[in-house]
Amino acid sequence: MTSTSNVFYRDLNKNYPIASRGEGIYIYDSNKKKYLDGSSGALVANVGHGQKEIFDSMYEQMKSISFAHTSQFRTIVLEEYASKLSKITPGEIKYSYFVSGGSEALDTAIKMSRQYQLERGRSSKYKIIARWTSFHGHTLGALSVGGYAEWRRPQEPNLIPVHHINPPNCFRCPLSLEYPSCQVKCALELEEMILREGPETISAFVFEPIIGSSASAVIAPSEYFKVVSEICKKYDILMIADEVMSGFGRTGEYFACNHWGIKPDIIISAKGISGGYAPLGAVLVHEKIYKAFKSGSGRFVHGFTHSGNPVSVSAGLATLKFIIKHDLLNNVKKLSSYLEGELKRLADEFSIIGDVRGKGFMWGLELVSDNKEMSFFDPELKVTNNLVKICFENGLIVYPSQKFHYGVYGDSIMIAPPIIISKDEIDELISLLRKSLTQLINYKITG
Ligand code: PLP
Repeated sequence: MTSTSNVFYRDLNKNYPIASRGEGIYIYDSNKKKYLDGSSGALVANVGHGQKEIFDSMYEQMKSISFAHTSQFRTIVLEEYASKLSKITPGEIKYSYFVSGGSEALDTAIKMSRQYQLERGRSSKYKIIARWTSFHGHTLGALSVGGYAEWRRPQEPNLIPVHHINPPNCFRCPLSLEYPSCQVKCALELEEMILREGPETISAFVFEPIIGSSASAVIAPSEYFKVVSEICKKYDILMIADEVMSGFGRTGEYFACNHWGIKPDIIISAKGISGGYAPLGAVLVHEKIYKAFKSGSGRFVHGFTHSGNPVSVSAGLATLKFIIKHDLLNNVKKLSSYLEGELKRLADEFSIIGDVRGKGFMWGLELVSDNKEMSFFDPELKVTNNLVKICFENGLIVYPSQKFHYGVYGDSIMIAPPIIISKDEIDELISLLRKSLTQLINYKITG
C-alpha cells in the first residue's frame, strides 16, 4: 500500500501489505510472502482461503439471480439455506433472519426481542442486560450492548442505556472471588440486576458462550450457563447467544452453546457462517418468537436492503455444505486436544504465557510479566502488539487482544486457525509462534 491510498483504513498510519492470494490456511502478499492464517483473519476464514467449491456456487448463483429484494421475492437459495440451518440449530430454533454481519445481527436481535414482547402484550419489557467486557459489534446498538469500555468511551453520549453485569472469568475474577467457593456469584448477579430493575421491564439477556475478541476465549465455569438459563426462564427473559465468533464449527460444534446444553431463544451468527466469501450474518430464532409475530402483527418492523442477498446466502450455503462434505467438525474434535497440548507446552517453555484457555480451535493465550503473581505487563510496553507484529514478520497471523478493563484483562492473543488445518500445519503454526515468542523475549521486552 502506498501513502497515496484513498482508502480510509482503521489504523491510518499503518502500512499494510497487499493481500493478493489465498490458498487453504495461507495468505500471500504482493511480494509473494506467505502468511499462515493462525486466526482465520478475525475468526472469519473458517474453511480456509480460495475454496473453489464455494466460489463456483456463488458464481452459479450470480448467473441465475444476484439480487431480489426479500419484500418482493423468495429465492431458492434462501429457502434451502434456512431449511438446512433449522436442522443444525439447538432446541426449537427453526427460523433464520438474514443480515450482512454480526453488528447488524445483534441490532436485529435486540429489536426482534422488543417487538416479541409487544406482540404478546408485555409492553413494559424493553431493557437489555449484557456483560462488561463482552464485544458485540460497532454499530451504536451493538456498541451499547457491548461492555468494552475503551471502544464505548468516544461514543458514550450516543449509546442507548443497557444494564451490564460482571462477566465470568476465573483466571482474573472481576469480583475477586475463588471458584468454586464463589458459588458462581457472577451468574447470580443476573438475578440481582433483574430484581433491581424490575423483572417486568427486562426483555433479554445477551451473552457470548465463549468471550472472544475482548478477552481471548474466556470459558465460564461449568454451571454458569445452567444458572443463568434458569434465571432467564424464571423471569420470562429471552436469552440471546452471540455466536458470531464461536459458531459454525469453530469449537468442534456448529454452535458453542452445544458444549453446555444451552438452549437460547435467539442465536446471532456472522463471520465464519460464510467463511469470509461474502458478508453474511443470521439471526436464528426460536419457534415461539416466530409464532408470536405470525399470530400477532404478522410483520417485523425492520429490514435491510441486503437481508437475504442471494449471493451472500449462496456463500453461506456453500460454506455449510463444505463443512459437512469435508467433515470439519470432526477435524476440530480430532485435533483440538493436540493444538491445546502444543499451546500448553509453549506455556511451560515461556513464563510470559500465564493462561491457555479455549475450546476446539478457539484458544486464548494470556501474557503476564510474572507467572507466579500473574501480573500484568506495563501497557506502555505494548506486549500484545509487539508479539502480533513479530508473528506477522515471521509469516504468522494471530489475533490481538490487548485490553485493560477494570484490571480484569491484560495482554492476550487468540489462536484460531481455519478449521481445515492439518496436524502438520498445526506443527508449523506452533513452530512460528515459538520462534516469535523467543524473539519477543530476547529483543522486545527485555531490550
Ligand atoms: N459479536 C462478536 C462476538 C464479535 O466478535 C463481533 C466482531 O468481532 C461482532 C459481534 C460484530 O460483528 P461484525 O464485525 O460482523 O459487525
